[in-house]
Amino acid sequence: MIYMRIVLMGPPGSGKGTQARKIVEKYGIPHIATGDILREAIRSKSKLGMIAKEYVERGDLVPDEIVNEIIKERISQKDCERGFILDGYPRTVMQAEALDQILEKMGYKLDAAIYLDVKEEEIVKRLSSRRVCTKCGAVYNLLLNPPKKDEICDICGAPLYQREDDKEDVIRRRLRVYIDRTKPVVEYYQKKGILRRINGNRSIEEVWESIDNVLSTIETF
Ligand code: AMP
Repeated sequence: MIYMRIVLMGPPGSGKGTQARKIVEKYGIPHIATGDILREAIRSKSKLGMIAKEYVERGDLVPDEIVNEIIKERISQKDCERGFILDGYPRTVMQAEALDQILEKMGYKLDAAIYLDVKEEEIVKRLSSRRVCTKCGAVYNLLLNPPKKDEICDICGAPLYQREDDKEDVIRRRLRVYIDRTKPVVEYYQKKGILRRINGNRSIEEVWESIDNVLSTIETF
């Protein structure tokens, strides 16, 4: 049996979502992405969605208390007993501390924080060419991983769209927020000795190989 509690970090557009899906496929642990949870809440116009909308669309962070609560509730669910992969959380040192406390209460700890290191010019290029399926949420990149038919999802045939926050001015803001608020989280995990830095400026397959190498050293049976 595999137990694995990991955080996948990196600037927006570093390939976290793509790599997280590969981890799910191989290791069968749930992928928990706060960005996906918030976007779904906004789409369904829930109370959470109404609060989160303005922050997400501006490229700002949703307040820590809100995302901490989402995570606390989500990782207490049964499907997380064997572990999970967190994507897009924690994004501030306060969130990282909250996560440690939540896990401690459950009698767990994080096994690793994997950091995908990607150059800034590469990020802007990747994000501005990212497209998402309007129906199933599959993610494409017009340059690196294009759909077979122009702007149509390979999996379900629905049209693709560009996330409101993947437009150039919002991308720049998200990057600034990342450098100010999330870079310190990388240092936080470095100090704890669980940071695993990976060069994310390579192909999806090359990055996956490095991640899988890291995971094979931490999995416990
Ligand atoms: P993502 O899909 O991870 O790029 O997240 C999209 C947006 O959701 C971010 O720009 C934030 O507005 C919000 N968001 C996602 N995760 C968090 C988090 N851990 N803390 C605060 N805001 C978040």
